[in-house]
Amino acid sequence: MTSPASASDHLNAFRGSCACSQLRYEVAGRPLQVVACHCDLCKRMSGGPFCVYVVVREKDFRLTAGATSRYQATDRTTKHFCGSCGTPVFNANPATYQGLAMLYVGTTEDPKRYEPRMNIFCESKLAWVTPNAGSQLFSRSPGEGS
Ligand SMILES: [Zn+2]
Ligand SMILES: [Zn+2]
Repeated sequence: MTSPASASDHLNAFRGSCACSQLRYEVAGRPLQVVACHCDLCKRMSGGPFCVYVVVREKDFRLTAGATSRYQATDRTTKHFCGSCGTPVFNANPATYQGLAMLYVGTTEDPKRYEPRMNIFCESKLAWVTPNAGSQLFSRSPGEGS
């Protein structure tokens, strides 16, 4: 599933920004995973029917402009967003996903590069949403079985 880091990682570096471009970021390595989450919290945090996250190592992620505002969504999850335009940029959950940042796919410079490899919390999926073909489906999270 996850590819080991390699010398070619710099070729996989990518950038992203919020809608107003006050926040810009750069990711040094390739994403570890791309996940679509259908849980109700993700619906609320994004305002959309589900969220797609590009999972990267926190140490590979760096803000190149601006600073994020934070919202403590749960006792474990912090949402980092642009305080100026409101765009959600990434979530962090150090208790469950130590060292990882979940980037909102729409903030990446080229969102079409990323297709979810898994759809999680399908138990809360809106009936009209069809998960992308070939992705793994989980009723909750992979740790909790499918
Ligand atoms: Zn902004
Ligand atoms: Zn979720």
